[in-house]
Amino acid sequence: MRWAQLTLVEDDSGKFDPRFWLDYFKRTRSDAVCLSAGGCVAFYPTRLPLHHRSRWLGAADPFGEMVAGCRKQGMVVIARTDPHATYDDVRDAHPDWIAVDANGNRRRHWASPEMWVTCALGPYNFEFMTEVKREIASLYKIDGIFINRWDGSGMCYCEHCRSLFRDAAGRDLPRSFNPQDAAYRAYLVWRQQRLFDLWQLWDGEVRKINPDACVIPNTGGGATSSLDMKKIGELAPTLIADRQARRGLAAPWANGKNGKEFRAAMGSKPIVGIFSVGMEEPYRWKDSVQSDAEIRLWVADGVANGLRPWFTKFSGVLHDERWLPVVEEIYNRYADWEPYLRNEASLARVALMYSQQTGWFYGGERAASKVEDHTLGWYQALIEARIPFEMVHDRMLDGLNPRQFSTLVLPNIACLSQTQCNQIREYVRSGGGIIATHETSLYDEWGTRRTDFGLADLFGVSYKSGPEGPMHNAYLRLEHGTNGDQPLLKGLEAAARIIHGVWRLEVEAREKFPSPPLTLIPSYPDLPMEKVYPRVARTDKAEVYLRDTIAVKPGRVEQNTSRQRGDAIAPRGGRVVYFPWDIDRTFWEVLCVDHLKLLRNAVEWANNGEQQVTVTGPGILDVTVWRQKSSMSVHLVNLTNPMMMKGPLRDLIPAPAQSVRVRLPDGAIARRVRLLAAGTTPRVERQGPYLSLTVPSVLDHEVVTIDL
Ligand SMILES: [Zn+2]
Repeated sequence: MRWAQLTLVEDDSGKFDPRFWLDYFKRTRSDAVCLSAGGCVAFYPTRLPLHHRSRWLGAADPFGEMVAGCRKQGMVVIARTDPHATYDDVRDAHPDWIAVDANGNRRRHWASPEMWVTCALGPYNFEFMTEVKREIASLYKIDGIFINRWDGSGMCYCEHCRSLFRDAAGRDLPRSFNPQDAAYRAYLVWRQQRLFDLWQLWDGEVRKINPDACVIPNTGGGATSSLDMKKIGELAPTLIADRQARRGLAAPWANGKNGKEFRAAMGSKPIVGIFSVGMEEPYRWKDSVQSDAEIRLWVADGVANGLRPWFTKFSGVLHDERWLPVVEEIYNRYADWEPYLRNEASLARVALMYSQQTGWFYGGERAASKVEDHTLGWYQALIEARIPFEMVHDRMLDGLNPRQFSTLVLPNIACLSQTQCNQIREYVRSGGGIIATHETSLYDEWGTRRTDFGLADLFGVSYKSGPEGPMHNAYLRLEHGTNGDQPLLKGLEAAARIIHGVWRLEVEAREKFPSPPLTLIPSYPDLPMEKVYPRVARTDKAEVYLRDTIAVKPGRVEQNTSRQRGDAIAPRGGRVVYFPWDIDRTFWEVLCVDHLKLLRNAVEWANNGEQQVTVTGPGILDVTVWRQKSSMSVHLVNLTNPMMMKGPLRDLIPAPAQSVRVRLPDGAIARRVRLLAAGTTPRVERQGPYLSLTVPSVLDHEVVTIDL
């Protein structure tokens, strides 16, 4: 539940004090630890030729000493290895183990130029590092081996990679990174297969020595990560998210997002979030310490989203000790809360889909803006709307059903196979709501464009042309109708028009959409100022399509309009919202509150029912809701801060009182209700299955617990 990591540096041997660290692990109530063992530097007396012993090792065994000490404290122990860099003697003995660049040169290490970058896909990893793992597992009874930087450092053109790829794909290694280039597409697939083979080889060898141990590669992530999360979820008994802190412009909920992405693939298996106590910017001040407020909020958002915390420290000799009491306090708090952190299920009713195949084959080198920014826009909107949600992986839609998630959001999920489209269709037919944006389903799973959306029947529209953009100075006209009953326009009653997005598709309705809430006001000149007037004041082009469906037969839904069906006896299908433009991506770029309202209203309409929890009050909170064995919990993480969108935080600033309304699971009876951080028992009002209470204040992290 609470992980510690001590990554030794080569000259630590003989200099650092193991007793200090063992005592710190005890004081933080850490119950698991990752310790440096070998690969780049061996911190134990290895007998393997070419396995580089620390030059300061002498006759000592700092790794073995730490393992024994941690065992005595009852901790789970895993060994850290790092295979990505090596030395001249290895290069001389096995020049073919070194990575080669596109010009045919062996690669020096970019940060430590006396070292060499190794090839990840050839014998260095498959043979030499396998021996290293066998040795560590045989000498020390460890529970697992964590492998850092195991998957290569960019494309390698060494003799092994060239011949292995030619054998597998029948062609030469690609020279471009364009996903529409067949060679590059084949490379993406081949590299993954090779790495999964490597992982299974290492795991198998370690389990031969200790059947209860395993190998845990440092891998995994969201739509822009390179290894298939579905396969990772099948192979890994646990997974560690290595996003150590914020950098640049990033929201503090980014840590919780790791948790959601990992859980989507890992289900109920334990997932862990590494956090750094230092600054994580491109300049890599690895020995730095950042503000305690920033560390606390980063960890809080991970824990609220189901990640078990893992602090990492490089160097056994400390250059700056200010982080020690901060982590000690955080860990003791979460140790005290542990019974309520052993979650069995999220109770969120909304799911946000992510798609690695869209990242690989549609996004390519522009995946950050074409793919991830759509997700980030939705993520921010759902946080601001305080709608608890989970993420789902597009290749794991098998069991998807409205009993778990009432609404599924597809943020420009461009690449979907026919099978995936059918799964989504079936979900809507059985009552699930969907909200899709922009080019969703316009490409197949390999990034090849279709003539029409794979989900055209669900959207009720067909693709015509585009995308058009980047559009300047384009708007949306709000069609409030005569009785102002447009659910999508709630909160925008006073607005006649709002800004459009940046990219839009031209689409054509396949059926009647009476009274569309948003229509296009096309882009018009934004300079000279004298020329800034709309050339077309009004069009009848709808810029959002809302359908309330009924299920007519397996795999088919139809729009449910009273005119069409009268008193339809067909079962209710889900509600479908389709935006042909990049509302989510534009929201992430410009954060326009009008777009936020559209996104929030779209979820509320598609969801067509109550949330498990509503939290009302000022500020921005990440709200998550969980079920444990005999309790449920609502986490409130206070993100309200002038440094919310660009860290690090200076201070934690308490959020004012929040009203919380929770729906109990069917048939459950609430016994004790507590506020964990405040340490108080709130006054609770009960009304049927609902509990209402007030949380007086949230500093960084409050948890409402309800014993059932
Ligand atoms: Zn290679």
